[in-house]
Amino acid sequence: SELVKHILYIEDLTVSFDGFKALDGLNFYVEINELRVVIGPNGAGKSTLLDVICGKTRPEKGEVLFYEKIDLKKLKEHEIARLGIGRKFQTPSIYEDLTVLENLTISYPKKKTVFSALFFKLSPMDKEKIEEMLHFVGLIDKRHLKAGLLSHGEKQWLEIAMILIQNPKLVLLDEPVAGMSAKEREKTVSLLKKIAPGRSMVVIEHDMEFVKNIAQRVTVLHQGKVLCEGNIERIQNDPKVQEVYLGG
Ligand code: ADP
Ligand code: MG
Repeated sequence: SELVKHILYIEDLTVSFDGFKALDGLNFYVEINELRVVIGPNGAGKSTLLDVICGKTRPEKGEVLFYEKIDLKKLKEHEIARLGIGRKFQTPSIYEDLTVLENLTISYPKKKTVFSALFFKLSPMDKEKIEEMLHFVGLIDKRHLKAGLLSHGEKQWLEIAMILIQNPKLVLLDEPVAGMSAKEREKTVSLLKKIAPGRSMVVIEHDMEFVKNIAQRVTVLHQGKVLCEGNIERIQNDPKVQEVYLGG
């Protein structure tokens, strides 16, 4: 039929680094408006998967389709971003010397460069949208603070805001709670729960507690392959998963 079900349709994906297969014939399908959590031990290939989706790493083999039709392998990173795929890296990539507000302003979709963003006058409506986003992530009171002065958690939330302000169709988050305190983790969970409805998301995390809190469907990666996939109960009861987590 003509109905498109998947925002990501990935088949037989293989990525090699000097002969070592970081991804090894991976199949990965994410439905439109699904929140998928990807877990797996260090080195499983989780970040590599996101690198392929956003065009940073070229696969050796396989199919990487957006909405079952757009071949992401053929596109450059900026073209993929423009399609509406927003990626958050493991370490925050914000401009530490700019204020929180300026960081969000330069991410605003109409602005092409840092320079034009800072000297271009935003319309009252644009400003309102940016302020709404700052409220949403809890950074409105810190909008005039240099981003470098934010706490680790606040930097992560700023970066999430910088992605969301672009209204992406697919949000990719790589370990959004890494290095966070328990309180910050809690806040991030509630933020992600608010973001998720009506959005397609892939969230990488290896903290099981965090996963239990937000997960709908979970994919467990191990040695570049899917080890197990399903809801959290299924994952937790799978002997292969237990072995990898307890034995690793
Ligand atoms: P994860 O995010 O699950 O911890 P990665 O996707 O970062 O794992 O890495 C998977 C494997 O691929 C690791 O063994 C890593 O060392 C290797 N790898 C990742 N990126 C590169 C690269 N650019 N060059 C060489 N090896 C890499
Ligand atoms: Mg990683």
